[in-house]
Amino acid sequence: PQLANQIAAGEVVERPASVLKELVENCVDAGASKIDIEIERGGSKSIVVRDNGRGIPQAELELALARHATSKVTTLEDLEAILSFGFRGEALASISSVARLTLSSRHIDADQAWQAYAEGREMAVKVQPTAHPVGTTVEVVDLFFNTPARRRFLRADKTEFTHIEEQLRRIALAQPEIHFSLRHNGKLVRQYRPARNERQQHQRLASICGSAFAERAFALRCSNDDLALTGYLALDDDRARVSDAQYFYVNGRVVRDRLVNHAVRQALEEAGLDWAAGYVLYLTLDPHEVDVNVHPAKHEVRFHQARYVHDFILTALQQALAQHLT
Ligand code: ADP
Ligand code: MG
Repeated sequence: PQLANQIAAGEVVERPASVLKELVENCVDAGASKIDIEIERGGSKSIVVRDNGRGIPQAELELALARHATSKVTTLEDLEAILSFGFRGEALASISSVARLTLSSRHIDADQAWQAYAEGREMAVKVQPTAHPVGTTVEVVDLFFNTPARRRFLRADKTEFTHIEEQLRRIALAQPEIHFSLRHNGKLVRQYRPARNERQQHQRLASICGSAFAERAFALRCSNDDLALTGYLALDDDRARVSDAQYFYVNGRVVRDRLVNHAVRQALEEAGLDWAAGYVLYLTLDPHEVDVNVHPAKHEVRFHQARYVHDFILTALQQALAQHLT
């Protein structure tokens, strides 16, 4: 099992930031309202993620570290219309095959917390009592300690931490109601407070995307029977002020897709504006209308009606621009 898990790890675990992504998405799935992250040395020493979600029942702890143990997909229908983030059921097993992983959790209905870790070639899972409030903490120590070739691929701590920060930005923008904190080598470096009204949303936008972006950002909101687009657009003649923030979410999941960039450029061109743009845009549509690439790291999507989606986004941008410019 260790080898199979290590092979799977090759797909899921590229660097500390990919570990962070899997761990934090699990916290989101567990309904956490607060997620605290502690990183040591860019994540190569340790990545600790603590949440106040519903926790894991003792009986399921062992399973959580086993491959294909997802509790989230029960039918083929689920697979086709994936709304929950985790669906492969192998992130924890994969990570624990290439690092020292400890899972501590207290389920919301339990009066005792338990800790689990897998060890040895057979990845035998040990479970013992521990102290922990309701919620879960996952500790990942010495990433790639047993796969030296991968370990050598890690960049400088600072670079790996930059990837971690970017990963956190992407997730935090999709989860405005969750409080996130990020520490590096013991120092608090990021704190994203939950946003429950427009003013707080703007503050959160500033702390995630920077104040230069937030100062120039204006809101966008457009929908029809099939599609809804919300979010922010920010324009400036200086790329450096706005263009670092270009985020596109489809049904709550960040994706890489040229469609939005194209629509933004077209909208600006048609308005005769030679400006740079940054954006944070959220598209919602029937999940059956879009295929999400099942490769965990790629974030690619394919819209069944790409033209229709593109034109809708273009119209939404044109309307927002027209309003903003008058
Ligand atoms: P997946 O998320 O695809 O189901 P993972 O390997 O990421 O697979 O996690 C395995 C299982 O462990 C999850 O299905 C979930 O039941 C449990 N789990 C992991 N992390 C948490 C967490 N932070 N809170 C609650 N349950 C968790
Ligand atoms: Mg998961």
